[in-house]
Amino acid sequence: MNFICPNISAAEGRLFFAGQDVCSLAKEYGTPLYLMDENRIRHNCREYMSAFRSAFGENFRVLYASKANSFKQIYRIVAEEGLGVDVVSCGEILTAHSAGMDMSLSYFHSNNKTDADIAYAMEKGVGCFVADNFEEVRAIDVEAGRRGIRQKILLRLTPGIDTHTYEAVNTGKVDSKFGSAIETGQAEEILLATMALSNIDLAGFHCHVGSMVFAEDVFERSAAVMLRFIGEMHRRHGFVCRELDLGGGYGVRYVETDPYLDIAAKIADVAETVKACCEEEGIDLPKILLEPGRGIVADAGMTVYTVGTVKTIPGYKNYVSIDGGMTDNPRYALYESAYTLFCANRMDEERDFLSDVVGRCCESGDIIQPKVYMPSTIGRGDIVAVCTTGAYNYSMASNYNRLPRPPIVMLRDGESYVAVKRESLEDLLRNDL
Ligand SMILES: *Cc1c(COP(=O)(O)O)cnc(C)c1O
Repeated sequence: MNFICPNISAAEGRLFFAGQDVCSLAKEYGTPLYLMDENRIRHNCREYMSAFRSAFGENFRVLYASKANSFKQIYRIVAEEGLGVDVVSCGEILTAHSAGMDMSLSYFHSNNKTDADIAYAMEKGVGCFVADNFEEVRAIDVEAGRRGIRQKILLRLTPGIDTHTYEAVNTGKVDSKFGSAIETGQAEEILLATMALSNIDLAGFHCHVGSMVFAEDVFERSAAVMLRFIGEMHRRHGFVCRELDLGGGYGVRYVETDPYLDIAAKIADVAETVKACCEEEGIDLPKILLEPGRGIVADAGMTVYTVGTVKTIPGYKNYVSIDGGMTDNPRYALYESAYTLFCANRMDEERDFLSDVVGRCCESGDIIQPKVYMPSTIGRGDIVAVCTTGAYNYSMASNYNRLPRPPIVMLRDGESYVAVKRESLEDLLRNDL
């Protein structure tokens, strides 16, 4: 059988993930269950790090966009691999800080940081703020002034690139809710106003054009627009850009029809464009940053469920109900995301039972994946595995219908350990008075 990622395999009719028997893990830890392959996370980190090192020497930084999956152990792993992190909220800042992360390597995003967020981030020593707009820059300046510090920031700009991906994950267009547009002249206005502030160290710019990007030249196009702007600002205002953050968003494989991406080759191409543009603009090469989230964790994750009801509606369709759902994986409900699924204890059987795999929530839209071929013998007690759930699953999970969130079990070199405990029913009452 051909699997979408090398950490998935099958033997003796059973599914293996990171070399471990998925059904045994389900038995040991219970379901629903998030599995994370630690070696795969490290492999993905190293792929980005070595690609950047060969392309840029030491003048780069790879940041893990931790909104993809945020819990203490993930910060420890990416920090060990030499990455910095993106954080977008006090919760992510606290989690990274509690994990012992060097907060000077953290970049604080979000399109609407409250005054309290700004103060909290400075308290915890966040290295760099990525300011979305001038109002925010001013608020950061005020808080930095109060603390007697000069806060390093990047300005988030929209280069006007349309990635032609799904609308909800398309963020680099001029009319985006994120950032300030180069095209409208607002970027230049904000730059000038920011340069005049005494408590702000404007290190450079950030852009992020979207997610699940496979298209050939999206990063090259946005880098070119950004560097042209940087060159212009240098000539007109003497502004020296020290950092250019190109955002995140390389696609990963969810299903067999998704293409493979050669990250090293992609980054080499981006580096070539960046260097050529700098030469053309007559500016020094800024430190280049990239913020992969999904690319670091997506294919390191798998979710494991137990089948309950299997329902056949003659002449219509079949349903396989599992013991989780949109509470632990809302991505189909949100974006109609595609996934690859297996019946983990029937890997040898023919898959001829076309069914919708659905969750246990009180919503018709609670679908993990429609139109999946499962073995026709599938029934109560069987184990269903959903692949590539390491990104935007646990981090988007909810307690809808008062369902406790699954635990995260890490797999490493044939062993397993709990990184996040299963929520208990009592946990659900934590804040009820
Ligand atoms: C979401 C996001 C990322 C990560 O995107 P992926 O598709 O997970 O790689 C990086 N940077 C910013 C600003 C983001 O909003």
